[in-house]
Amino acid sequence: MSTLSLTSAENHLASLVTSSGEAGEIEVRSPFDDSVVGALPVSSEEDVTHAFASAAAVQKDWAERPVKERTAVIARFRDLLLKERDALVDCVQAETGKARASAFEEVADASLWSSYNARHASGLLREKRRQGTFPLLTKTRERHVPKGVVGVITPWNYPLTLPASDVLPALVTGNAVVLKPDSQTPHTALMVLDLLLRAGLPRDVLQIVLGPGPEVGGALVAYADYIMFTGSTATGRVVAAQCAERLIGCSAELGGKNAMLVLEDADVAKAAVGAVRGCFANSGQLCVSIERIYVHDAVWDEFVSAFGERVRQMRLEPGFEWEADMGSLISARQLDAVAAHVDDAVAKGATVLTGGNRRADLGPYFYEPTVLLGVTDSMELARKETFGPVVSLYRVSSDDEGVRLANDSEYGLSASVWSKRNGPRVARKVEAGTVNVNESYAATWSSHGAPMGGMKSSGLGRRHGAQGILKYTEPQTIAAQRLLPIAGPADLKKETWAKALSAGTRLLNLYR
Ligand code: NAD
Repeated sequence: MSTLSLTSAENHLASLVTSSGEAGEIEVRSPFDDSVVGALPVSSEEDVTHAFASAAAVQKDWAERPVKERTAVIARFRDLLLKERDALVDCVQAETGKARASAFEEVADASLWSSYNARHASGLLREKRRQGTFPLLTKTRERHVPKGVVGVITPWNYPLTLPASDVLPALVTGNAVVLKPDSQTPHTALMVLDLLLRAGLPRDVLQIVLGPGPEVGGALVAYADYIMFTGSTATGRVVAAQCAERLIGCSAELGGKNAMLVLEDADVAKAAVGAVRGCFANSGQLCVSIERIYVHDAVWDEFVSAFGERVRQMRLEPGFEWEADMGSLISARQLDAVAAHVDDAVAKGATVLTGGNRRADLGPYFYEPTVLLGVTDSMELARKETFGPVVSLYRVSSDDEGVRLANDSEYGLSASVWSKRNGPRVARKVEAGTVNVNESYAATWSSHGAPMGGMKSSGLGRRHGAQGILKYTEPQTIAAQRLLPIAGPADLKKETWAKALSAGTRLLNLYR
């Protein structure tokens, strides 16, 4: 297996980082075999200050362009994504060690989300007439103005999807953006910037800064007009508190402990296939990964057997071939965290249906897809997010019990319900921002017209849909009053006006 060589493009990508080059370098290594993918300059605090100043300098001009010019850039970016598909997939794989099919999903998702932005931004941003105080006399308009310079902080698990998810709506609404991707996956984010520049994005409207989270991410929070953060709930709390201190808005997409429900009337064979994907896509390092499955008594034996068999058949492979079912974990830290959860559960009495081993023979951070039975609340992974290829199966005696246990969590990001007849009805009882019926996670995520995000400790705000675009704007109301002041004619007695207004209010109430 050969790791992707980015050396020819390395200098170009390095030149796109906002950095004076004085703060050192980040060396990026491939999780497949620990070989060097490339080295990129770190950004100092002065570099971040410079990034915000130069982004602010071009933001107004960008915002004053007709929306159609901005959407045209996004549409050209979408076309370039598909044109450069193979290079992007190679880069995502080299940096994350994920299976090729998982890496490709990032390109497809970014492309479809680009289309949504390109097609719908104009309509969403169009000035709208709103009901005024008095019909005909108060002409009220609602408009949306950009926040200014938006800070976007992204993790390593979806290095193409997540920057695209959050940078594109911020740009299309007229903001400039300073993006800080995770230091393990910076090349992919730089490729996104490169494609946007090729698509016609003016220089400096999007800046990328690199470096350690608390320092460089913290500096972003200190200067931005709005923060979009994706990452762990623990860091999300820190970022949200800093945003509150500055009275700037923030949106946060955080962790989950996502549940799947296999109801009494589920199609078990289909549920088993869906569970494999839901638990082990991207080696389980997916915010919407399923880590708990509640299975109705009536279908327990059939499901456990079918699911266990499918998991045992999964192809674990390093490299750039298409047919691998699962690749590597991202790092030694992630591998140790996953193994520690499984070891703790087993030491406390859980049994391993399949998996449970490191696979150093495949690569330094490979871990088998793992299914646990007999997990109890005393075990670390019962309630904490593992963020790896590990799932616990629980037998329940009714569909309602499954719902109750699924909801007994501090998280509420995503859920999945499998049923021939009752899926949508049961989905409404689940406390999660997105609930998939007869699909594991992709139906809600890729419904780009609908909001995606977490309830409870899984997040603040939403991405996707109208909300995911308009959150990067400040709504502004402009109401022009003519002929009659709201407080009544200046020479009319107040009591007379109050009487007239009482009658008027009764009438207006009918039309509100
Ligand atoms: P993390 O919170 O450690 O890091 C995420 C990003 O925040 C990185 O870029 C990091 O450098 C930066 N960061 C770290 N400390 C910071 C600070 N003090 N101030 C500002 N920025 C800081 O998360 P992670 O472990 O890299 O990512 C995995 C987590 O992300 C999981 O919990 C997963 O569920 C979550 N996630 C959520 C979504 C979603 O859409 N809800 C999507 C992907 C990942």
